[in-house]
Amino acid sequence: MTDMSYLDGNMLDGPLREVFAVDLSAATGRCQSCGMVGPMARLRVYSHAPGLVGRCPSCAEVMLRLVRAPDRAWLDLRGATFLEVPMPLDRPWAG
Ligand SMILES: [Zn+2]
Repeated sequence: MTDMSYLDGNMLDGPLREVFAVDLSAATGRCQSCGMVGPMARLRVYSHAPGLVGRCPSCAEVMLRLVRAPDRAWLDLRGATFLEVPMPLDRPWAG
């Protein structure tokens, strides 16, 4: 493993910028707690917290937390195993 090459994390800027620029409510997510896979738009969102809390519609565990400050935001997706985001076909990451 010592000579495995890797790229600096700065290379993630373009790919992540592309993912975060899309409508994430159209994304599909998997609940880490119960394994349910479904659209993020079906989460039950509670807004009377310091931020937004999205809970699984199946087991009610937290899948997403989003806190917004004037100059920054925190996104916590610990409760989601993955997000599957629809992407346009004509913008591959290959480079
Ligand atoms: Zn769940």
